[in-house]
Amino acid sequence: MVNVLILGAGTGGVILANKLAERVEGDVNITLIDRSTRHLYQPGFTLIPFGMYSVQGCTKPVVNFLPKGAGLLRGEVERINPEKMVVIAGGRKLTYDWLVIATGCRPAFEEVTGLDRALYRSAHEFYTLRGARKLRQVLHGFTSGRLVVSIADMPIKCPGAPLSFAFLAEEFFRRRGLGREVEIMLTTPSEVFSKPEVAKTLEALAEERGIELVSEFPLAEVDHGSKRIRSPSGEEVPYDLLVVVPPHMGSEAIINSGMGDAMGYVGVDKHILTAADFENVYALGDATNLPVSKAASSAHFQAEVVARNLAEDIAGSGIKARYGGETFCFILTSFTEAMVVGFDYENKLYQGKAPLPLLGPLSLNKITRGNHIAKLLSRWLYWHLWLRGESFPYTGGAE
Ligand SMILES: Cc1cc2nc3c(=O)[nH]c(=O)nc-3n(C[C@H](O)[C@H](O)[C@H](O)COP(=O)(O)OP(=O)(O)OC[C@H]3O[C@@H](n4cnc5c(N)ncnc54)[C@H](O)[C@@H]3O)c2cc1C
Repeated sequence: MVNVLILGAGTGGVILANKLAERVEGDVNITLIDRSTRHLYQPGFTLIPFGMYSVQGCTKPVVNFLPKGAGLLRGEVERINPEKMVVIAGGRKLTYDWLVIATGCRPAFEEVTGLDRALYRSAHEFYTLRGARKLRQVLHGFTSGRLVVSIADMPIKCPGAPLSFAFLAEEFFRRRGLGREVEIMLTTPSEVFSKPEVAKTLEALAEERGIELVSEFPLAEVDHGSKRIRSPSGEEVPYDLLVVVPPHMGSEAIINSGMGDAMGYVGVDKHILTAADFENVYALGDATNLPVSKAASSAHFQAEVVARNLAEDIAGSGIKARYGGETFCFILTSFTEAMVVGFDYENKLYQGKAPLPLLGPLSLNKITRGNHIAKLLSRWLYWHLWLRGESFPYTGGAE
C-alpha cells in the first residue's frame, strides 16, 4: 500500500486529492489532515462586507468534496520530519511514502505594531471569515470620514482583493448617498498593481472615482489612540476607519520543521513543485515561495501538475509535468463590472478571451459586465466543479 499524505484540506489540498484519485488505481491511500472540518471559499470574503455573499455561502463541510476512499484526519499539523518520512499531527505520529504540503498561509496580525489594540475597534479586516462578517456591520454604521484600506506588506493572498474592496466601498457609500461624506484611500507597500499596463487602467479608474492611491507605503504601526497609521520611515496617515490587510506568513508547522524560509514558505522547484532537497515531498499553493500570486487559481493549476507528477512517481514512469506559473486574478471595479488578468512565469499578460478563444466569457485586461458575471459564477463552479477536480480549460495564451 502506498501512503500519500496531504497536509491541508484547503483549495490546493482538496483539488489535488480529487485529481490524484482519478489518476491512481489500486493500493494508494490518500489522507488529508486539517485543523478544521470546514472548507472556506476565501475569494468570497471580499464580498461579505457588502452583503453580496453570506458567511454560509462561503463555508461547507470539507468531507462533501473528498474523493471516495480518501481519509480526513482532523488535527493540528505540528511537525514534519522529512528524513524519517513522519508527520506529527493532532498528537499522532503518521508515516508516509509521499507528502504534499498544502497548508496555505495566514494573515499575521501580530506583525504590525499596535494592531492588537486597534483590531476590531478602529481597525477591521476581511481576510478572515470572522473579520469579513464583522466588517459588514461596521460599514453599515459608518456614515462619514476617511476609510483607509492599508496593505501592510507583500506577499498577500489575492493581491487584487484590497483594490476590489476599495472600488466596492466607493460604490457602496455612493449608492447610500454618502459619496461626499466618505473619503476612500488605499495605501500599498509597493506599486498599486504589479503589471504596469493593468495598473494604468486601474489608477485612472480610481482617480475618476475619487479613490486616493498611496503607493510605497508599507504599514509598520497602527496607533489606535490617535487613529493614525505609520510607515517605517515615520510617514503618517490619519483614518476614521481602517481596513487592514496584514502581512502573511506560512504555517508554524513549516517553520518548526525547518522546511521553510524566514516567512515559513516552502522552497520548491518552480516547475516540478517538489520541495527543495526531498524528492518525495511536494508543496503547492500559498504554502510555497513560488514567484506567483497567492491565489486559488494558481493553487488549482499547481494541483493539476502535482497530481500528474505524483501519479507518475507512484507508477515509476519518471515522466514529469511542469507548472508554468499560470495565474488568473479578478479585480471587482464595481457591483456590476470587473477586470480579469492572466499571466505566467514569462510575465506577459494573456490577451483576448478565455477560456474559449472567441467566446470567453472572460475578456482579459478589460473592465466588463461579462467578467463580473463570470466572477459571481465562479463560486458555483468552485463548489461544484473545480474543488471536485474539474480543470479550468486554459493554461496559456501569452503573446
Ligand atoms: C480576502 C481574500 C480574497 C481572495 N480572493 C481570491 C480571488 O478572487 N481569486 C483567487 O484565485 N484567490 C483568492 N484568494 C486566495 C485563495 O483563497 C488562496 O490563494 C487559496 O485558498 C490557496 O489555497 P491553499 O490550498 O494553498 O491554501 P488554503 O486554501 O488556505 O488551505 C490551507 C489549509 O491548511 C490548513 N492548515 C494550515 N496550517 C495547518 C496546520 N498546522 N495544521 C492543520 N491544518 C492546517 C488550513 O486550515 C486550510 O484548510 C483570496 C483570499 C482571501 C483571504
